[in-house]
Amino acid sequence: MTGVVLEGVSRRFGAVTAVDRIDLTVADNEFVTLLGPSGCGKTTTLRMVAGLEANDDGRITIGGRVVSDAAKKLFVPPDKRNLGMVFQSYAIWPHLSVYENVAYPLKVRKLPAAQVRERVAAALRLVEMESYAERPAPLLSGGQQQRVAIARALSFEPQVLLLDEPLSNLDSRLRASTGDELRALQRRLKITTLYVTHDQDEAMSLSDRVVVMQQGRILQVGAPEVIYQR
Ligand code: ATP
Repeated sequence: MTGVVLEGVSRRFGAVTAVDRIDLTVADNEFVTLLGPSGCGKTTTLRMVAGLEANDDGRITIGGRVVSDAAKKLFVPPDKRNLGMVFQSYAIWPHLSVYENVAYPLKVRKLPAAQVRERVAAALRLVEMESYAERPAPLLSGGQQQRVAIARALSFEPQVLLLDEPLSNLDSRLRASTGDELRALQRRLKITTLYVTHDQDEAMSLSDRVVVMQQGRILQVGAPEVIYQR
């Protein structure tokens, strides 16, 4: 069981209601995208699932475990939610090599050294970056850095993957191919995925279902072809 459930979830910043009592279920192994204009509450929603932001109302459940319940003042911190994250603010670390970046979440989880080496190699292979392992992170192109961020998010085999505009720094050719790769990986590894973008084409081409948000609310939820027709 790896689904994500949001029930009556809100987040307010002073007078601004960034997310307004939303209900959403992401099924096991499903790829769901939050789509909408700037400021509609996509990133805040994702950050609440990640535990980087606390919800003011409602309840969030990941893999059958309640990770946040505002009424009960229950809050599980991000590092205890077993999530892979690729956020713009979670860029790779410039003072570390590619290898060290991907190894980091495994070392934090105190995996044995041999297993760390194995998992890093596998994650770098997935994003076709194995030949760059020793390279310092700043000497990578934007697209390569984004692949490393994806490898790092996958290295500890999370049950759920959260991605916030992960293709935004790529040129259009790389955006399409990295998007396809990401989707193939998600299917192969069967990872429940919640994805944020303001790019309609990206949402349509990647997702099982698209959630259209506006002013903190969910306007529509459906398969890409259904959303497109409307
Ligand atoms: P974008 O695509 O531009 O990132 P978004 O849909 O992800 O937009 P959010 O970042 O979730 O939107 O923001 C939703 C609303 O909440 C906006 O009005 C934003 O200004 C406000 N907001 C978000 N974070 C904060 C914060 N830390 N303090 C105050 N207001 C915030």
